[in-house]
Amino acid sequence: MKRKRNYIIIILVAALCGCGLVYWGKDGSSLASTRTAYEEEEDSIFPAPAKTLYAMQLYLDVPERMIYGKSEISTENTAGRVLKELWFTAYPNAFRQQQGSPAPSSAYYAGFDPGWMEIEALQVNGQIASVEGDGPSLRVVLPQEIAQGEAVNVQMEWKAKIPRVKYRYGCQDTVFMLGNFYPTLNVLGEDGWHNSYSSSFGDPFCFHMADYIVNITIPEGFTLASTGEVIARANQDDGREIYSIGAEGVRDFCLLVMYDYKEIRQKMHGVEIAAYCPAGQDANARNLMARAGDILHFYSCTFGTYPYEDFKLALVPMLGFHGMEYSGMIFLSKEFFYPGKDSRQDFVLAHEIAHQWWYGMVGNDQLQEPWLDEGLANWSARLYGEKMLGQQRPQKPVRVCNLNRELRDMQSRQDYYGTAYTAGEAFWYGLEQELGQDTVIKVLRRYLSDNREQIASMEDVLKAIAAETNKDMSAYIQRWFTE
Ligand SMILES: [Zn+2]
Repeated sequence: MKRKRNYIIIILVAALCGCGLVYWGKDGSSLASTRTAYEEEEDSIFPAPAKTLYAMQLYLDVPERMIYGKSEISTENTAGRVLKELWFTAYPNAFRQQQGSPAPSSAYYAGFDPGWMEIEALQVNGQIASVEGDGPSLRVVLPQEIAQGEAVNVQMEWKAKIPRVKYRYGCQDTVFMLGNFYPTLNVLGEDGWHNSYSSSFGDPFCFHMADYIVNITIPEGFTLASTGEVIARANQDDGREIYSIGAEGVRDFCLLVMYDYKEIRQKMHGVEIAAYCPAGQDANARNLMARAGDILHFYSCTFGTYPYEDFKLALVPMLGFHGMEYSGMIFLSKEFFYPGKDSRQDFVLAHEIAHQWWYGMVGNDQLQEPWLDEGLANWSARLYGEKMLGQQRPQKPVRVCNLNRELRDMQSRQDYYGTAYTAGEAFWYGLEQELGQDTVIKVLRRYLSDNREQIASMEDVLKAIAAETNKDMSAYIQRWFTE
């Protein structure tokens, strides 16, 4: 992924120089259309990772708790069929009503406060299109069908309300946690669209990787942290500061804007680690950074190299999760990660970082197969604890249950954790008992290399297992995927 770095910097500089801060391609020419030298993608992967670019201009209004955006999404119809519609995830809409909000009521520190998103203008390939729905998935009926191989250029103006909630999308006072805050093009697979829906537990997402060029203005004096790399930064006459950010080959673009925060940086094992912490939490942040550097190194050596030049962690007000993963960045709950607060901190940190491999590099549909990333993140975190911290892994007998269950089929938060995390982890323990730990690690290295930058499914796990062993595993597999 680093190979594309120069290319995206050139685009960013060209966008800034040629158009000031307005790169809204009124002539219909997309930034992505200038791209060259990408390897051929397989058909039927849409939107194809190496062909998809988000260019966004963002304005954060702190007093109003609003984010105003202009997005241009440039890609190609690689779906292997004619496109008649597009679906987008609009995660802020999951926060419209208290009932159905993914955030627990305790996270609404000032009483319920709604969040939402509105698409104010939309064009697809230069023609006005309309949006249907006001939930976390929005449907766009195309004014004109788009044939296989044709360019897809979406331009939209939108705004999103940021609720007062200590959550992965929300704010507390002057700390803005902006995960999944922008309209995101959903995945169209052979089985149809992988759309998001409201769920009070779990991660309701499935996205392909893409590249991002983001310009954002925020009030001076605030600190910004995001996916990718700040390429340029300048003060404006109006008391605001503009950041230009580029990110390549990322599963999502995450943003954090906060006041009275400290940024600490340290290079470890070739990766630049940055921590963002509230005043007075320096020592805690340094400690977490050191541990994060070791964990990244361990996973790089065990599964395959971490793909980015930097990694960021941020202590933020967040209830309902101890941590939350994004490409190249994690949010850690400052309540949970208070020094000495909880003995599970090492495990949770290692779990969140493992998502850089299982979610980030190898994606999966977190609605349809949540056990894939959560089970592997748990198993990887325990492996780190065993190998590097000398911790005993749980000796509980492996509890078999059907892993082949979608988020909406799970009855409760407890059912979700029991299936995706505990049983998902136990699947890999059981496999260790069958094949040995070394072979399981080989299976995971293959799973990574065969599915890197893609969206994997249970079949891909089975293929990786079959490729690394001659043993007949059908009875074992059957136990985990039948009612
Ligand atoms: Zn997780």
